[in-house]
Amino acid sequence: MTRATKTYVSETVSRLKPSGIRRFFDLAASMEGVISLGVGEPDFVTAWSVREACILSLEQGYTSYTANAGLLALRQEISAYLSRKFGLSYRPDGEVLVTVGASQALDLALRAIVNPRDEVIVVEPSFVSYSPLVALAGGVPISVRTNGADHFKLRPQQIEEVVSPRTKALILCSPNNPTGTVLNQEDLAAIARIVEKHDLLVISDEIYAELTYDEPYTSFPAVEGMRERTILVSGFSKGFAMTGWRLGFVAAPEELLQAMLKIHQYAMMCAPTMAQYGAIEALKNGEHDVDEMRKSYRRRRNYFVQSLNDIGLHCHLPGGAFYAFPSIASTGMTSEQFAERLLLEEKVAVVPGSVFGDSGEGYVRCSYASSLEQLQEAIKRMKRFLSRI
Ligand code: PMP
Repeated sequence: MTRATKTYVSETVSRLKPSGIRRFFDLAASMEGVISLGVGEPDFVTAWSVREACILSLEQGYTSYTANAGLLALRQEISAYLSRKFGLSYRPDGEVLVTVGASQALDLALRAIVNPRDEVIVVEPSFVSYSPLVALAGGVPISVRTNGADHFKLRPQQIEEVVSPRTKALILCSPNNPTGTVLNQEDLAAIARIVEKHDLLVISDEIYAELTYDEPYTSFPAVEGMRERTILVSGFSKGFAMTGWRLGFVAAPEELLQAMLKIHQYAMMCAPTMAQYGAIEALKNGEHDVDEMRKSYRRRRNYFVQSLNDIGLHCHLPGGAFYAFPSIASTGMTSEQFAERLLLEEKVAVVPGSVFGDSGEGYVRCSYASSLEQLQEAIKRMKRFLSRI
């Protein structure tokens, strides 16, 4: 057999860097007794009623494809949910699409709008997928760096500094992964003015919208004038504790949604049928469960963020998601050195802030979606670690 003398891998993919989170997970997985504050997922099992609805759908033999856009009954529930919770109005038929997680929704949104070399603004520190997905869609990710002193809030001036005639869109994420920062109505209204001025589109990733703890949540398309310029991305993974179900959705004006549906029908056909039946139940009757989970995260956030500050790691109070993003600047280590030593010496896994972009350097991401006992033990170990260095 002859070996290939050239690479068959595309230049775009060759240039992509593997996610920096992976290395730590692999290392942590090879060790025993590790407390992991590394993973970005709820520590709850999906509500029983949701699992039961899924099982029932299988018992009834609903095992074929659904409509490309997803079950109409689910799209109707999504539309009703968006109206009830955020005051939004999207037609189930034509403006809502059920996807394989928010991940696929982001991919579809970018592929539907990006022409070669169009620029898309990514707000750092940012979820690790945004920039690679922009590049895979043929675009150019342009970073905006928010800073810790300002609680990582995106300010309109920061958009002005990077916007160019090639800028097509801005990806917003509130509550943010990894900082937990929530942009309130005032913040969003100020951003909206710049978006309008430069005729931008916004992909608003609201996957953590159910998990906010201090202020009422404002959805970006609810801001005046923004509905027609927004692709709203959300899903069931975080708020409803359904990461493994792989179910998300998009709501957008018809022209944009139909463009995404065109890609989806060829690339995916439809989201998994049994998961869609579970999701109908989650939206119909899941509010109480979501409320209980939210209260539980809030209690843990309050304990964990206070404790980080008490042991000398300065941390702003994140308004949402389940991440604390403390500064490790006082240790003099890079975030990667800190995370590696903390893992090897005290068996606590956190994620170095640098994997979320340059402005994440000097910070680490800790998920507090762990039991209170685990969080207490992690704080004890971190305190011991800090006393030694
Ligand atoms: N957006 C953000 C900001 C996330 O943190 C995640 C999951 N880590 C996703 C999207 C993807 O979620 P899903 O499981 O719905 O694909």
